[in-house]
Amino acid sequence: MSLLVQKFGGTSVATIDHITNVARRIKKSRADGNDVVVVVSAMGKETDRLVGLIEEVDVRTSPDIRRETDVLLSTGEQVTISLLSMTLMKLDVPARSFTGGQVRILTDGQHTRARIESIDTDRMRATLAEGKVVVVAGFQGVDAEGDITTFGRGGSDTTAVALAAVLEADECQIYTDVEGVFTTDPRVVEEARCLDEITFEEMLELASLGSRVLHTRAVEFASKYQVPLRVLSSFGESDGTLIAGEDRISMEQPLISGIAFTADEAKLTVRGVRDVPGIASKILVPISEAAIEVDMIVQNVSADQSTDFTFTVSRGDYEQARSILEGVAGDIGAAEVSGDNKIAKLSIVGVGMRSHAGVASKMFRVLADESINIQMISTSEIKISVVFDEKYLELAARALHTAFGLAETQ
Ligand code: ADP
Ligand code: ASP
Ligand code: MG
Repeated sequence: MSLLVQKFGGTSVATIDHITNVARRIKKSRADGNDVVVVVSAMGKETDRLVGLIEEVDVRTSPDIRRETDVLLSTGEQVTISLLSMTLMKLDVPARSFTGGQVRILTDGQHTRARIESIDTDRMRATLAEGKVVVVAGFQGVDAEGDITTFGRGGSDTTAVALAAVLEADECQIYTDVEGVFTTDPRVVEEARCLDEITFEEMLELASLGSRVLHTRAVEFASKYQVPLRVLSSFGESDGTLIAGEDRISMEQPLISGIAFTADEAKLTVRGVRDVPGIASKILVPISEAAIEVDMIVQNVSADQSTDFTFTVSRGDYEQARSILEGVAGDIGAAEVSGDNKIAKLSIVGVGMRSHAGVASKMFRVLADESINIQMISTSEIKISVVFDEKYLELAARALHTAFGLAETQ
């Protein structure tokens, strides 16, 4: 008998009809001879609704507020586990629901972005041994004090992969509202093509660079513990996309596998900084002390020995980062602080890039032909990211998708 972990995202459990569809799928997997552990998200846009309520309260973020945020956001998934378990029982499938705390998903104490430290499998194994489907709330755990924690938006994927890893499941299946992992977001570029397979390494880049189809931490876990991971549609019948190690991927590697983008970024520049040792840390230490994550960093020295120091942060952190920098700028004698929160970051990703020169120049030429001005560039062995005005995002994604031949089967 195989063990499957199946995760169903928000759209897949948006209504009781949808939950019934999910329950039928689970029933079929069991009839095919599998034990099933299910992970679910909150129904539809419930988490967004809850976030909206916090915005209405209009309170400044602090560790205490983040603790309360987790108490609130975790309620969404708790609704789904009970409704799905009831629906399974109605279809004569024995089932039992568990919150993250009930299966002892223990995390650190970083509210709203907690990391899983351990999971106790005893209760899940005992429930499976009783012939029941185990239904676990995604996105949540508890810290050492027993306080509820959550893993960051999209974190139910991470619950699923972590459970698959500790239970040594045969496959972790992420059911969502598209057929699998596409060459780029199919809601933005119509010609996007569903991939049969992709490596962990490429998927990790795509996820961390903005493709929200999988939570980054989920891909990290799957790669670390070699969990076979599949993304597929909860509405269709296709095999979706297999995400696995390079050794298990059969096809010849294309130059570029996919394009990821995000308009959730902002750029900050400190101008006219003296070019002396220690400046970068004077600028960035106060930012990291405020728990603001910095993404791309560019520093350039001009002929007069002054430098401009530019970096990007999440758009939600823009105002706070800007006010911190205004304080720092005075201390280090910088000329001015400027910023732009209307930028987008787009990245092309592919392990095939390793063995090919000229990918960057082709990317820049395509953007130039569309008159898109690149503001920042960063590269790694298997990706090239650029930042530009967010109004060009769709145009750039489409042009690059075509130029790199992603629509054609490779
Ligand atoms: P779920 O609620 O099931 O977790 P998400 O909304 O988190 O679903 O993720 C699925 C969405 O990810 C798709 O609807 C699609 O718009 C978006 N997406 C972005 N990039 C990609 C990609 N490369 N392949 C597939 N989907 C993508
Ligand atoms: N419900 C959470 C969210 O919307 C977690 C998830 O769906 O993965 O972010
Ligand atoms: Mg998701």
